[in-house]
Amino acid sequence: MLDIIRPGDPRYADVQHVYTTTGAPAAVLQPRTTDEVVQALGFARDTGGPLSLRSGGHGISSVSTNERGTVIDLSRLSTIERVRPDARLVRVGPGARWGEVAATLHPWGLAISSGDSGDVGVGGLATTGGIGLMGRAHGLTIDHITAAEMVTADGRVLHLDAQREPDLFWAVRGGGANMGIVTSLEFRADPVPVVARATLQYRIERLAPFLQAWGETVEAAPRKISAFLYLMGGGFALATVVYAGDDPAAAEAALTPFLQVAPTVGHQAQVVPYAAVVAATHAPHRGQQSGRTHTGLAVHLDQDLSERLESLDLAGFGQLLQIRSVGGAINDVPADATAYAHRHQNFSITAVAPSSSRAFDEAWAAVHPSLDGLYLSFESEFTPQRLTEAFPGATLQRLRDIKKQVDPDNVFRQNFPVVGFPDVTHRP
Ligand SMILES: Cc1cc2nc3c(=O)[nH]c(=O)nc-3n(C[C@H](O)[C@H](O)[C@H](O)COP(=O)(O)OP(=O)(O)OC[C@H]3O[C@@H](n4cnc5c(N)ncnc54)[C@H](O)[C@@H]3O)c2cc1C
Repeated sequence: MLDIIRPGDPRYADVQHVYTTTGAPAAVLQPRTTDEVVQALGFARDTGGPLSLRSGGHGISSVSTNERGTVIDLSRLSTIERVRPDARLVRVGPGARWGEVAATLHPWGLAISSGDSGDVGVGGLATTGGIGLMGRAHGLTIDHITAAEMVTADGRVLHLDAQREPDLFWAVRGGGANMGIVTSLEFRADPVPVVARATLQYRIERLAPFLQAWGETVEAAPRKISAFLYLMGGGFALATVVYAGDDPAAAEAALTPFLQVAPTVGHQAQVVPYAAVVAATHAPHRGQQSGRTHTGLAVHLDQDLSERLESLDLAGFGQLLQIRSVGGAINDVPADATAYAHRHQNFSITAVAPSSSRAFDEAWAAVHPSLDGLYLSFESEFTPQRLTEAFPGATLQRLRDIKKQVDPDNVFRQNFPVVGFPDVTHRP
């Protein structure tokens, strides 16, 4: 029987909130099977009011909980299994966390590039992109999807792959939250026994030249290298650089140039299972990370963009600037092959502020002209402009055409909706 958790239930406190916001839904439904997902959707549609979908509860968009509505919480659909060992195929439930996926796949000698946090859920990340610490070596997470199961707005259960539902299979890899509830995903994993992970702490004199040097170093690195940079002000930057391979000499040669970007106050490198890079903490969700973000993609960290980012930093708007590498294998995929169309950029840049403010928006607006596209999973603001940056030109049109067929009532409009707009463009 479908498990429904309501206010007053002793379990409610642990399911009402998500990572980035607090909520007070009237009912949190926890289906255990695809049939129960169909029932849950029927319940939500009959009840009316706000609907949220939740897999790992780590959506930066903060839309996986609500006030007085229904949440379909897929955390119990979290099986991780091998389908065909010879083809490296694995099937994963949307409610699994990426740390659990990595830990389960490690003994099989396999891994799927996901993101930098093991607590992020499979469902949210694998329906939009997946910019991870093996991205330049192995591509986005969505580039590994070979099939998916989806419950559509009218309660049908569809099996998506390149032959059976080619349009929906295209759409689910980048614009998935618009089309239905993903109940299972099949991935072709990569043979990755271990990786070399370096962490570096830089002391920075001036941000703009540092960013230019960082960008040049990342672009010159072999594609087995993926590199994420985190700037927290105060003249320091932290970097995580991953070499996706187990040859220590090649790893050392590829990692050494990162020591020349700027003086370090500390650095270390270790050969570790990929699972150690993305371990899950399973910390309970209490809306503990309630920041606002703006984001964009860029081809190069050139002088112009680096200076704009320096001004943003000096404006002192907030708490964190993150620069993740993309490029490499991500850009081997044609722009029209998936609903994530950004296949020529080398960097994803995200600014995080403690709360929405005009100062933050204005500081970001000064960076914006030097950006090129947007990865929707790092943006907390929905506007028509952000939508067209996330889904440029033909991508948005194709998503809208498919949407018209599969969800004419716009039931799934919570996360970067391609038609209509939600009542709230910003959660406070
Ligand atoms: C600490 C942190 C680190 C992150 N690091 C990275 C990173 O390195 N790389 C990266 O690419 N992303 C990263 N992200 C962003 C992350 O990928 C997205 O926020 C993603 O949506 C989270 O997935 P979730 O299942 O946990 O989210 P949820 O909050 O559960 O879901 C978010 C939204 O996704 C949609 N959705 C969720 N499940 C389904 C489903 N089964 N079917 C259809 N739609 C669904 C719904 O609209 C839902 O509201 C990070 C986020 C956080 C908070």
